[in-house]
Amino acid sequence: MSFEDNQEKGFTRRTFIKGAALGTVGIASAGLLAGCGGSEETPPAETTPSGAENIPSFLKPPAPIPDSEITETVTADVIVVGGGMSGLCAAMSAAEEGAKVILLEKTEQVNFRGNDYGAIGSKMQKQIGNEINKMEAVQEIMRYNAYKGNQRVVSLWAEYSGMVADWIMAKAEGYGCKPKPVPIDETMTPGTTVRGFPTLSFRMDPSDVALNDAPKGTDPWTASMRYTLKQGCIDAGVDIRFKSPAVQLVREDNNKGRVTAVIAGEKGAYKKYVGTKGIVLCTGDYNADKEMREYYIPSTKYIHANMFEMVNGPINTGDGHKMAMWIGAAIDEFPHAPMYFDFAVPGAPILADALMRQPWLSVNERGLRYCNEELPYAYLCNAERQQPGNMRWTVWDSKWPEEAPSFKVVACKDMRTNFHNPENVKQYIEKGYIRSAETLEELAEKMQVPKDNFLATVARYNELAKKGVDEDFGKRAACLTTIEKPTFYAAPLGIALLVTLGGLKINENLQVLDQELNVIPGLYAAGNTSGSYYANDYCVNLPGNSHGRAFTFGYLAGKSVVKLG
Ligand SMILES: Cc1cc2nc3c(=O)[nH]c(=O)nc-3n(C[C@H](O)[C@H](O)[C@H](O)COP(=O)(O)OP(=O)(O)OC[C@H]3O[C@@H](n4cnc5c(N)ncnc54)[C@H](O)[C@@H]3O)c2cc1C
Repeated sequence: MSFEDNQEKGFTRRTFIKGAALGTVGIASAGLLAGCGGSEETPPAETTPSGAENIPSFLKPPAPIPDSEITETVTADVIVVGGGMSGLCAAMSAAEEGAKVILLEKTEQVNFRGNDYGAIGSKMQKQIGNEINKMEAVQEIMRYNAYKGNQRVVSLWAEYSGMVADWIMAKAEGYGCKPKPVPIDETMTPGTTVRGFPTLSFRMDPSDVALNDAPKGTDPWTASMRYTLKQGCIDAGVDIRFKSPAVQLVREDNNKGRVTAVIAGEKGAYKKYVGTKGIVLCTGDYNADKEMREYYIPSTKYIHANMFEMVNGPINTGDGHKMAMWIGAAIDEFPHAPMYFDFAVPGAPILADALMRQPWLSVNERGLRYCNEELPYAYLCNAERQQPGNMRWTVWDSKWPEEAPSFKVVACKDMRTNFHNPENVKQYIEKGYIRSAETLEELAEKMQVPKDNFLATVARYNELAKKGVDEDFGKRAACLTTIEKPTFYAAPLGIALLVTLGGLKINENLQVLDQELNVIPGLYAAGNTSGSYYANDYCVNLPGNSHGRAFTFGYLAGKSVVKLG
């Protein structure tokens, strides 16, 4: 695929990546294969959402597909749209209630990524004495979303995620996978600036069958989850229809009544899927629709990489959000929350190794320190976006083999996991993606930052490190280490978008609401298609929350649609 082709498909120069070529390869192992370009632009001082006067194209409902264009009508109790984490859980959960379920998936496979699963009170957590106060966790999510979320909806995750995690693990064991607990020190670091919660609930070593069933290169823990949910659906009798993109919902009474069906397929071969109990939208997020993304999250104009596209391709175009809005559904107030991680390497075709993302000294392109480097990923990305050049340099020295592990950073920056690969680091240094030098002066030249500023910044940082107190930005003392022992290293970092997190407004039964916040009968949503949960930024200090919400809400939506219809 050429660069021009990429642009046409919604990729920008900043998000230039080798998309689908990566298939479902785990991000950590993506390493050198992954690509992302650099953004030299600094965002304007203020970005505001587009005004209502410019109605974007995705909000304009298409003409309803007439019955004359429907080649077949298929009826089931429940139609689930989307074969990812939430959709497979919804379908399996509904099928276990005895419902006849059809799952429509746009692509030719189920789609997964990552392997952090956030829950509270699962058996694995109890087994190691990992106790989390549910109300405190809910209040932290509400603080993140600045109380734009619906606390009753957020509480569903705290209340039921442990039970749903157990449901998944029991199935996984049945398929020969081996769930295991996540030690508390691998899910939470004591004393962080923003308090963490040990929500990583379990990991699952795959069976050979699960591993072999997954696309080549899939992370083994991801393969376990993928196989468990896919096979679980098949064994529960779910009729999975691949290559069946849903395109329109059918709502009675001129979009005032019940949602009765969803139309899927391509022009000339549309099929109508009638769900007598209801339709559950689980089409994921809208990261691959650039217009929609930049409308609801203007700061995504300044990302350096789109990691969802790198792993799964440009498949999540917000179809569920759009279809529901066309028939009257309400969406979260915007700007919506993005999931930003500091994974991108501006100007280099790689993703950053965990070593580069440790809370070392960070400077902007003027060689000046500007924030506490230990903040959650989203905050680091936000602070970076306010800097000239919209990028940062992390700087460390040859003491890193002892120092980096001592920071005890967890989740996607954990040096103990495959997010750190010494072989990649070696290659990144050889190829110059990580700059190295024997003097700080030489390093400044390689970074192309003003030497005087940089030397003064390092001198001040060393002074603070020796004092053991970050008087300038309040970083945790354990992460304050001197930069004084050659060889010196510097790596450029930028912003990676993983997913978008704004969705359709729902109630605590996972029912989609209309503009007046009344239930739209027959319509449910889960996972990233559902809203009323996140706002502002992703709460990465409750690691695995996105997956945890997706499997919990999928499971609950499956139960609700069967029970409530
Ligand atoms: C690289 C990466 C790693 C991540 N790692 C983690 C992690 O470790 N922990 C965590 O909590 N979160 C992680 N996330 C986020 C997490 O994967 C998602 O937020 C979550 O899985 C979303 O689940 P979902 O069911 O809403 O959507 P998805 O899993 O995206 O599934 C949506 C499905 O719907 C299908 N679809 C789309 N449109 C249609 C249509 N019109 N008709 C039919 N089907 C359609 C898609 O093809 C897809 O299969 C990661 C994200 C990325 C990009």
